[in-house]
Amino acid sequence: LNRRLAEFGTTIFAEMSALAVRTGAINLGQGFPDTDGPEEVREAAVRALRDGRGNQYPPGPGVPELRTAIAAHQRRWYGQLGLDPDPETEVLVTAGATEAITAALLALVEPGDEVIALEPYYDSYAAAIAMAGGTRVPVTLRPDAASGTFRLDLDELRDAVTDRTRLILLNTPHNPTGTVLSREELTAVAELCVERGLLAVTDEVYEHLVYEGEHLPLASFPGMRERTVTISSSGKTFSFTGWKVGWVTATPELVGAVRSAKQFMTYVSAGPFQYAVAEALALPDSYYTGLREDLRAQRDLLSRGLAEAGFGVFQAPGTYFVTTDIRPLGETSGIDFCLALPERCGVVAVPTQVFYDHQEAGAPFVRFAFCKRPQVLADAAVRLKGAAA
Ligand code: PMP
Ligand code: GLN
Repeated sequence: LNRRLAEFGTTIFAEMSALAVRTGAINLGQGFPDTDGPEEVREAAVRALRDGRGNQYPPGPGVPELRTAIAAHQRRWYGQLGLDPDPETEVLVTAGATEAITAALLALVEPGDEVIALEPYYDSYAAAIAMAGGTRVPVTLRPDAASGTFRLDLDELRDAVTDRTRLILLNTPHNPTGTVLSREELTAVAELCVERGLLAVTDEVYEHLVYEGEHLPLASFPGMRERTVTISSSGKTFSFTGWKVGWVTATPELVGAVRSAKQFMTYVSAGPFQYAVAEALALPDSYYTGLREDLRAQRDLLSRGLAEAGFGVFQAPGTYFVTTDIRPLGETSGIDFCLALPERCGVVAVPTQVFYDHQEAGAPFVRFAFCKRPQVLADAAVRLKGAAA
């Protein structure tokens, strides 16, 4: 393994899911739903397979039906904010958001360029920046008593920009903290990008999973349309994380750049699922609302259980995840805590520390996924309370 990748080892998600399987624990580590997405969307995939749509190499940028559906989705949810991508030139289908992120960084970063990322960051960001030969510059989200969640320190962000900064890699709603960046925070990010001539790559895979407040795409802020690569995915919105259908929207120039990298990574993404996701994107508003309401109830159930078990519990206005502080339990190391938890009470969680460069800043935090059936969450809560007692 070369030096660029050696520091990364195995992803924490595979490690913790393997631990869950080995110990038979309830897996609240890796973020994937334990119920599959809509039946009619699964049927659409079967139909595509049977009808021979997408069984041979689909077009490089994605099948036209899906590109059209992605553009229509942007218009439907963010058209009033000015987003209206051209399906021909401003949309690219990728193998999940993961490929989109890596392809964007490989396409846009020169060796030695600095990439600012919010810390804690989704683990593939660090590896993708390294593969692109970039240097990551983390800006730490800080626990904020007033909002009960994590916030971006705008002065810290400004101070992180240097003459070598190429782009800001943003993520809102934010994994792992569960925070949703505010209009004020996003305005500041946008102003900084414009002022310093930076690009932005924004990971918005949880765009529909917002329980309080609203999701605002970075590309909709003044001056950002022409400098932002927006990334999303069908995994979270439709509960098909195994399908790996993601996408990029941006100007033709930026989409072309990302496509240059993508064509040599996977060439194209798997065909039949693209047709099914095109149908999923057109589901009525009630689908999107229902998903959100279900997840909100699941979040509340788990958050309450964690609080009753003695954890410090942060608000999670978005995503699949609630972040906890284990210091009220008399613990200080999330890593030690998560390694012991399956034996102690049969639950798997993820230590947030692994998503930090400033390890000490993340040591006392542990992430729990609530994208699980209510009964599973209730069982987990009972186990956690038993362990704390
Ligand atoms: N970004 C974030 C913030 C995520 O949490 C995930 C995990 N699902 C991804 C990207 C990867 O998405 P995909 O499965 O579509 O590759
Ligand atoms: N996004 C999911 C999480 O944060 C996991 C994705 C993965 O396993 N790479 O848990």
